[in-house]
Amino acid sequence: MKNFDPSKAIQDYLVFGEFGDVNPSITDSSTYTFLNPEKMEEIFEHEIEGCFLYSRHWNPTNRYLSMALARLEDTESSQVTASGMGAINCVIMQICNQGDEIISGRTIYGGTYALFKNFLPKFGIKVNFVNITNLEEVKSAINEKTKVIYCETISNPLLEVSNLPELSKIAKEHNIKFVVDNTFAPMIVTPVHCGADVVIHSMTKFINGTSDCVAGCICSTKQFIDSLNDVNSGASMLLGAVLDSFRAASILKNLHSLHIRIQQHSKNAAYFAEQFQKLGIKTYYPGFENHNGNKILKSFMNDGFGFGGMVTIDVGSKEKANRLMEMMQQELVGYLAVSLGYFKTLFSAPSHSTSSEIPEEEQKKIGLGEGLVRFSVGLDNDIVSSFERVKKCLAKLKLI
Ligand SMILES: *Cc1c(COP(=O)(O)O)cnc(C)c1O
Repeated sequence: MKNFDPSKAIQDYLVFGEFGDVNPSITDSSTYTFLNPEKMEEIFEHEIEGCFLYSRHWNPTNRYLSMALARLEDTESSQVTASGMGAINCVIMQICNQGDEIISGRTIYGGTYALFKNFLPKFGIKVNFVNITNLEEVKSAINEKTKVIYCETISNPLLEVSNLPELSKIAKEHNIKFVVDNTFAPMIVTPVHCGADVVIHSMTKFINGTSDCVAGCICSTKQFIDSLNDVNSGASMLLGAVLDSFRAASILKNLHSLHIRIQQHSKNAAYFAEQFQKLGIKTYYPGFENHNGNKILKSFMNDGFGFGGMVTIDVGSKEKANRLMEMMQQELVGYLAVSLGYFKTLFSAPSHSTSSEIPEEEQKKIGLGEGLVRFSVGLDNDIVSSFERVKKCLAKLKLI
């Protein structure tokens, strides 16, 4: 693995607007003129550098953002989408045909789980859910119909770590595409360095970081991204989950502070995790040496960005989790809200919100307890006093 600094790669990406603007102009057009009809005909047949046809296909602002994202993930190319789910749908629909199968981690984002479990069967695509940290289970789920191994780098909400290098080895041996959702670990992990074929983000979360829009992206080879944009057969072009150019412009600006935000999120989450553990609260955090994914993550993570901004605790029951969250909001610890990567701390109880798509029986099996509270720890400068407020709530509820 090479010593890679994604923040440097993005910093080295300089583009200018028409008038030397330091932020390139935002494309305010759905369609584009051609000097002659022959040129228009040509672009329907193949892409022409610097030429645009229609904004669902490509627009210059989305192109600028995509080029920066390709640098973030060290891929040849990238594509932005209207949401993370839009990105996941495009990738799966592009790769899979009727009758194909997918092997997926079972502790994935609730929306992805519901898509895989309830929606894809309508198109004859079957998903086999496995414990992705058990490589033998992954291997034994493979058959001649398997087209994709799908996982999240750090999974939601128990923060399990996928062994990307080993999973990619298995995928390559069987000529299967290895697709990684890296939403929880931008900068921290570069999945293509571990053999991923396609990397997905919900940019709604850390990459944008201001919780003011939904957006997604797909990073991969030029060939794969071009196939998504084929006017006759591309999932991006035909499913139409296109990102608006105004949003692309604002996300690009936020992307340039991602490295600083990730460092601060990681630092603050580490503090929360240590304090929770000291107080005897059951805590899930991949930065702990005794977390079962710690060694694996260390073996491929990039230097200097920490273990991410997420911490999950278990306070034993739904009732306690609910009261704790209510109280923490009153004490201004942060917001009782789903999502992550915001500058303020967000918390929610996954088993009744973001993971509620996973049936109760299944939740029990995978250790997803009703008393879980997931934190996306914010950028607070004085994290010590923030935790004092959490502690006050824990004490009031007699949890410590
Ligand atoms: C939020 C999320 C998604 C879905 O992204 P949207 O932008 O909400 O469509 C997918 N994967 C993970 C890991 C997420 O956290």
